Amino acid sequence: MEGTNELVLTFDSRPCNEGMVRVAVAAFCTQLNPTLEEVSDVKTAVSEAVTNAIIHGYEGKIHKITVRCVVEKRSLMVEVRDNGIGISDIKKAMEPMFTTKPEQERSGMGFTFMEAFMDEVSVESKPGEGTVVYMRKTIGR
Ligand code: ATP
Ligand code: MG
Repeated sequence: MEGTNELVLTFDSRPCNEGMVRVAVAAFCTQLNPTLEEVSDVKTAVSEAVTNAIIHGYEGKIHKITVRCVVEKRSLMVEVRDNGIGISDIKKAMEPMFTTKPEQERSGMGFTFMEAFMDEVSVESKPGEGTVVYMRKTIGR
């Protein structure tokens, strides 16, 4: 679309790719002249969503994750998609301190951090089909 700029990255759900994607999204959003704090917020949110896709969506198995970013005016949209196990109760999953993996020292704070660091977070998911996390943040307000 005219007036927008898009980046799409598809990568294997290997933990070593999480840092690469976080840095790629941070580099992509520099076109909005973000503050260091804004860059850090975006990196944290992307990191949480991608880690969730790796650990929960695919349960450590290697499949594809797609991260799509769109910049329009002063706003960054980030979409993190997996075709993994999905989430049966999205509302519950997004509650602070809710985790289905307490034995792995998960604190259940990933969605809470995403919501704290981005302006908008929404989730679409179907058990057995996968999960898409949409996040939006206005940069340089
Ligand atoms: P933390 O992020 O603090 O390490 P966590 O990952 O369990 O712990 P959240 O990131 O808030 O906490 O996620 C909450 C729950 O939502 C997870 O425990 C998991 O059950 C579910 N979940 C999150 N993302 C996905 C996903 N991509 N696919 C399937 N389930 C997910
Ligand atoms: Mg998490």
